[in-house]
Amino acid sequence: MTTTPGAPASPDEPTEQIDLDALRARYARERDRRIRPDGAAQYRSITGEFGYYAKDPYTPRTERAPLTDTVEVLVIGGGFGGLTTGARLRQAGVESIRMMDEAGDFGGTWYWNRYPGIHCDIESYSYMPLLEEVGHIPAWRYAPGEEIRRHAVAIAETFGLYRDALFHTRVTDLEWDGETDRWVVETDRGDRMRARFVITSSGTLTRPKLPGIPGIETFQGHTFHTSRWDYGYTGGDQQGGMDGLADKTVAVVGTGATGVQVIPHVGRDARHLYVFQRTPSSVDVRDNRPTDPAWAASLRPGWQRERMENFLQVVSGEPVETDLTRDGWTSTARLQRKMITGALDTSVSDEERERIDELVDARTMNRIRARVDEVVDDPATADLLKPWYRYMCKRPCFSDHYLPTFNRPDVTLVDTADHGGITRMTEDAIVVGETSYPVDCVIFATGFDVGVSGVVSGTMPVRGRGGHGLLESWGQGPRTLHGFYSHGFPNLFHLGSLQNANSVNFAHILLEQAEHIAAVIAEARKVGETVVEPSREAAEAWVRTIRETAHDNSAFQAQCTPGYYNREGSGVRGGSSYSPGPVAFHRLLEDWRGDRLHEVLGAKP
Ligand code: NDP
Repeated sequence: MTTTPGAPASPDEPTEQIDLDALRARYARERDRRIRPDGAAQYRSITGEFGYYAKDPYTPRTERAPLTDTVEVLVIGGGFGGLTTGARLRQAGVESIRMMDEAGDFGGTWYWNRYPGIHCDIESYSYMPLLEEVGHIPAWRYAPGEEIRRHAVAIAETFGLYRDALFHTRVTDLEWDGETDRWVVETDRGDRMRARFVITSSGTLTRPKLPGIPGIETFQGHTFHTSRWDYGYTGGDQQGGMDGLADKTVAVVGTGATGVQVIPHVGRDARHLYVFQRTPSSVDVRDNRPTDPAWAASLRPGWQRERMENFLQVVSGEPVETDLTRDGWTSTARLQRKMITGALDTSVSDEERERIDELVDARTMNRIRARVDEVVDDPATADLLKPWYRYMCKRPCFSDHYLPTFNRPDVTLVDTADHGGITRMTEDAIVVGETSYPVDCVIFATGFDVGVSGVVSGTMPVRGRGGHGLLESWGQGPRTLHGFYSHGFPNLFHLGSLQNANSVNFAHILLEQAEHIAAVIAEARKVGETVVEPSREAAEAWVRTIRETAHDNSAFQAQCTPGYYNREGSGVRGGSSYSPGPVAFHRLLEDWRGDRLHEVLGAKP
C-alpha cells in the first residue's frame, strides 16, 4: 500500500475546538498590524556607504594579473550548483573548466554564512550533495555549517575544480562572439577571457540587506550582518565561545531562520542580549542527533540518491511506500504545497482540499504556539513569541535551543511589531517607540535581497547574438526552455529557480539541474556541435507550459503577514514555476534527454 506522509491522518480527526473564523480574523489582524506602506522599499542594499557590510571577513584578497585566455567551460558561482555542475562535467571528460566566485573560496551560501549556531535545517544525508562520490558520512543528522562548507571544498578537491579557479572575481560583462562561437567574459579584475560554454549559478539569497532604519548610519558602536560574522570582535567560532561579548550589551535584529539559530549563542555569551523581533517565527522541534555508526555502516551504494528522491517525493506529495526521513519537513508536506507546488490531492474537490489544508494548518500552528507556552516561563514573553499566520507564510524554523533562551535573565525580547520595526537608531542605542536600548553592538539578522542573481538583476549584463541584451529580450518576463537557456543566447545556462520546479531541499534541485546541463554539454561535445541553443518556438512553448500549468497561490499569499515570500505583502504574481512539481519536472527532463536533446544542438541564426 502506498501512503502520502504529510496528509492528515484523517480529515475527520476531532476539530470542533478549532474555530477557523476566529483564527482567520486573528491572522488578518496580525497581518494588518505588520503591513508597511513602503513594502520592499523599506530595506537598504549594502552598497555605497554601507558597502563595508559586504566585505569578505574570511579570506584576504590577493592581487593577480588580468587573464586573457580561453577555457571550454566557465562556471560562475562556487556553491553547490556550480560545484555539482563542475563535478558532472569533469566526470563527462571535460578538462578545461574554470570555476569563478566573488567569494574567497568554494561553498556559496556556506562560505558566507558562518554565524555561531549555523546548521542546515534539511537532513544532511539528503542535503549535502555527492556524499558517496566524496566518501563522506555527515557527523550529524542536521549538519553544522562548517561541515557543509568543508564538504563543498572536498567536492572541489575530489573533482579537481581548484585548477584554474578564480576567487574574489565578479563578472561585469558577457558578450557572445558569433565569429568564434565563444563568450567574451569581462570581470572586475580586468580579465577579458573567452569561454565556449558559460554556466551561471550565482544564487538567489546572496546579497545581505539592511533595514532602512532612520539614523542607522549614526550608530557608533560595532555592527555587522550575520552573513559576514565578525569573529575578530566576538571571539569564538561557530560552536560559540564568544568571550569577546562577555562585557558587551548586544542587539540582534531579526528573528527569521538565521536569528533563530544565532540567538541562543549570543544569549549565552553576551553580558546582555536584546532581541528585536517584528514577526515571530514558527519554531518546531529539531531533535538533532549524531549519525548512528551502525546505520552508516549498513548503507549500500546508491543510498543517497534513494534518500534524496524519497524526501523529494514525500514533500512534493507523490505516493511513497515509506518516508525515510520522517521529520518536520516531511510531516508538513501538505502545507508546503501552498508555497512550493507539487502533486495535489485530486481525490477531493478544490474546496474540500482547501478545507482540509486549513484544518491541518490550524492544528500544526496551534501545536507550535502551545509549545511556546510549554517552554517559555514568562507568559507575556511567551505571548509575544507566538506566530499568528499560516504555516508556510514564513520559512518554518526548527530549534530546541531558541525558545529556552528567553528564560535567561540576561536576555530581553523587544517586540517592535506595533511600530513596523525599529523606530530609529542613535549613536549608541536602538529606539523602539519612545524607549531607548543602549547597546555596544548591533548584529543584523535581517536577511537577503531575494532573487538577485547577477543575470536577473542586470549586474551581470549579457549580450547575445547581434548584441541583444538578455534582460531586454525578457522584457515580458523570462523566456527560457526548462529555465536553463534562451533563444539568441547560445551556450549560456542558468541554474536556480527560474521557470522550473523548486523544493525545500534546494541542493537536490540544483544537483538535478547540474546533471541535466552537464548531459547536454556532454552530448554536444560527443557529436561535435559547438552551439547549444533552443529555438524561439521551443522557448515559447515552455513559457506557455509554465503559464498553463501555473498554480496561482496569490490568494494564499495575500492573507500572509509580510515577508520576502510575498514581497512584503505587496502581492505576488502566481505561477512562475512548473506546478506539477519537481518530481514531474525531473521526469520530464529525463524523457526530453532521451529523445529530444538533439533539438538544442547545432542551432545557427
Ligand atoms: P529573513 O528575511 O527570513 O528574516 C529577516 C528578519 O529580520 C525577520 O525576522 C524580519 O522581520 C526582521 N527585520 C527586518 N527588518 C526589520 C526591522 N526594521 N526591524 C525589526 N526586524 C526587522 O532572513 P534570514 O537570514 O533569517 O533567512 C533568510 C533565508 O535563508 C531563510 O528564509 C532560508 O531560506 C535561508 N536560511 C536557511 C537556513 C537553513 O537551515 N536551511 C538557515 C538560515 C537561513 P519580519 O519577519 O517582520 O519581516
